[in-house]
Amino acid sequence: MELIPLTLGSEVEHAVLYKGKGAFVASVSAGSIAEEIGIVPGTELLRIDGEPPRDAIDFQWAEAMSSLTLTVRAPDGVEREIDIEKDPDEPLGIGFATDLFDGLKRCNNHCPFCFLDQLPKGLRRTLYVKDDDYRLSFLYGHYVTLTNLRESDFERILRLRLSPLYVSVHATDVAVRRRCLGNPKAAPIMPILQRLMDGGIELHTQVVLTPGINDGGALTQTVRDLAALFPGVPSLSIVPVGLTKFMPAQRGLRLVSLEEARQVIQQVHSWQQEFHPKFGVNFVYASDEMYLLAGEELPSAKAYDEYPQYSNGVGMARVFLDELAEAKGLELRVKGSTLNPQPSHLRATLVTGSLAVPFVQQLSDFLNDSSIAESQVIVIRNDTFGETCTVAGLLTGQDILHQLRGRDLGDIVFLPRYCVNEEATFLDEMTVAQLEQELNVKCDASAYGPRGVVERLMRDEG
Ligand code: SF4
Repeated sequence: MELIPLTLGSEVEHAVLYKGKGAFVASVSAGSIAEEIGIVPGTELLRIDGEPPRDAIDFQWAEAMSSLTLTVRAPDGVEREIDIEKDPDEPLGIGFATDLFDGLKRCNNHCPFCFLDQLPKGLRRTLYVKDDDYRLSFLYGHYVTLTNLRESDFERILRLRLSPLYVSVHATDVAVRRRCLGNPKAAPIMPILQRLMDGGIELHTQVVLTPGINDGGALTQTVRDLAALFPGVPSLSIVPVGLTKFMPAQRGLRLVSLEEARQVIQQVHSWQQEFHPKFGVNFVYASDEMYLLAGEELPSAKAYDEYPQYSNGVGMARVFLDELAEAKGLELRVKGSTLNPQPSHLRATLVTGSLAVPFVQQLSDFLNDSSIAESQVIVIRNDTFGETCTVAGLLTGQDILHQLRGRDLGDIVFLPRYCVNEEATFLDEMTVAQLEQELNVKCDASAYGPRGVVERLMRDEG
């Protein structure tokens, strides 16, 4: 049975906060089976058909059956067994405090470039946790290395068809991969991928490109080895390594240079020309950051196929530009009428990191030219992580606050969507609500991107 991934959430955060504490019910849907049988928030699910559930995957699996027996402990401590007969398609209506009831599987690697080793103190507690949990890969698209899989994990992945999974390969050469992972015991990745593929699991893959370690000939070998596994491996992304000012100098790592980024993009384009006629898709994609580092024009939407690695930063910039073109074409409909705004008195500030300025400035120019709002772009320097960190997703609340304080910000500040979590909290624990209070201006971290910004501005104007 193929299971359906749950909606995206801050699952690592939940898993850490509720570490191994069991399957506690956080919410019960009104009118659901769970409500009918008297399950309430705070109830603990102890067993399903006599077996303790390990995670939401076990629960989803059981939920898709027509009959099951739940053993639960109510908040008052009373245990009971409930037999349920139901339509297999009907959900029970239970939301859990975490999807990992038995705790998070930790990483057993020591990658020299590990971002978690490069964090300053004082960030969200959960950011310091090195997770490498195949369940989060299936449920939320997290990249995992597969170095900590036990035989029972393999069997479960294959038995439940937990597909697709997202794998940080970095290199297919055994020695190079071990160096990338800082793990001399890491088993060869190719037989692992082959075994999973043979069991019907799709594996989207990525390479974090670290100059001097897995570039050049090692990268070529990785691309060719993984392409040989298509369609079991349907995509491969190449993303540049990220280094903060806390990276210990003795590790000898450096960022991808402009020239190297250009070479990689050239290689990617030539591989795409080779693969597309055979596969019908480009298969290998450079991340947005790679194009921005190289100062190269982004490919068309078509070149990203179905955006298989969108949430890994592969194609987001293209979608941004295409949304902007759509808005420019005045095709966006707001409140049921064609966008044709009257001159506006709204004033807006668009916040970003330096890498995305060329795109965000285009959005600002459009807002000004079309009189949707009078807007400005403010580029935030990343003092927390250092100036090498130019992506908007790593901006902290404190840096934004310090650099916006005292400036004329207009009526609303748009923040990059990816610098806050689902609870609208920045990496440094500041919330968007706190930022709003400190700056005394409305802040919006959910409407970033041309469509969202235009819709929000039109709504506010109305
Ligand atoms: S796999 Fe590597 S990069 Fe990921 S958490 Fe572990 S050590 Fe860090």
